[in-house]
Amino acid sequence: MYYNSILETIGNTPLVRLNELADDIEGTILVKVEYFNPGQSVKDRIGLKMIEDAEEQGLIEPGGTIIEGTSGNTGMGLALAASIKGYNCIFTTTDKQSKSKIDLLRALGAEVKVCPTDVEPDDPRSYYSVAKRLSEEIPNSYYPNQYDNPSNTQAHYESTGPEIWEQTEGNVTHYVAGMGTGGTISGTSKFLKEQNEAIKTIGVDSVGSVYKKYFETGEFDKEEIKPYLTEGIGEDIIPSNMDFNLVDAVIQVNDKNALLTTRDLAKKEGLFVGGSCGAAVYGALEYARNNDFGKDDLMVVILPDSGTRYVSKIFNDEWMAEQGFIDSEE
Ligand code: PMP
Repeated sequence: MYYNSILETIGNTPLVRLNELADDIEGTILVKVEYFNPGQSVKDRIGLKMIEDAEEQGLIEPGGTIIEGTSGNTGMGLALAASIKGYNCIFTTTDKQSKSKIDLLRALGAEVKVCPTDVEPDDPRSYYSVAKRLSEEIPNSYYPNQYDNPSNTQAHYESTGPEIWEQTEGNVTHYVAGMGTGGTISGTSKFLKEQNEAIKTIGVDSVGSVYKKYFETGEFDKEEIKPYLTEGIGEDIIPSNMDFNLVDAVIQVNDKNALLTTRDLAKKEGLFVGGSCGAAVYGALEYARNNDFGKDDLMVVILPDSGTRYVSKIFNDEWMAEQGFIDSEE
């Protein structure tokens, strides 16, 4: 038995029960471990889908160049699909991202341009603006724009949602996901709520992002925007893939709680995952403890990526001590 290419191994990731971290909770908490994808993150699903949809719509021709602003994981998903399908990739990212994430993209043949984090999205130096400008300048290029591309949400509507429904045999009652572009939460939630409208969707945001206040008040408040370290969740814009009508509650998690939970996931559950996974699990546990979450309830939490990309940060004691998240002798 074999696959025709690595792309056929995307999806069908395992659901795993949380044990020690959830031992005070009566109901069941399962995590969906997306690092089993070939690019080691949930974003393989959308990388492939955005390229295939663009091919179908005639938006990219053979030998073309894919240009995207990406924090690394989407780049990896796009680069994997592009390497099999024969496209070039140019990615713009911010100086907040792990060096190892950028090296990984280069390993798959992509060109990576690092842009400053501390500028407004519409500043010409921002990674959004640079990606957009390059896509206008380079002929036969395609700018997937994961923030506003409906193929992002659709990938999760077609794969992540049905997988969770089947793997839980329709018994899922709560769904938890971090919110970055919004594709994961919106696409999966849409599918799950169509199967059973009682399913509750909980979005996890980072302190320093505009999402929580926007969800609660409808107000886009720039005052909420602060620098933070948890990579992949929270935004300073409201992308069109983020559909708050499909979200029932939003929990904001700070860096310390997110990153310490990430370390606990490795030490106590053997789950070596990234910082947004720690945030998602912290948010999930907080929700389960403070809301009506009983013994028959079944929560599924998305763990978007792997810890390998954060070895020099979250899993480095010196770095964690410098941030004030652990004591230096710990
Ligand atoms: N975690 C990580 C590590 C990510 O790279 C992303 C994507 N930005 C997310 C969570 C959030 O997923 P989405 O963009 O689908 O909201």
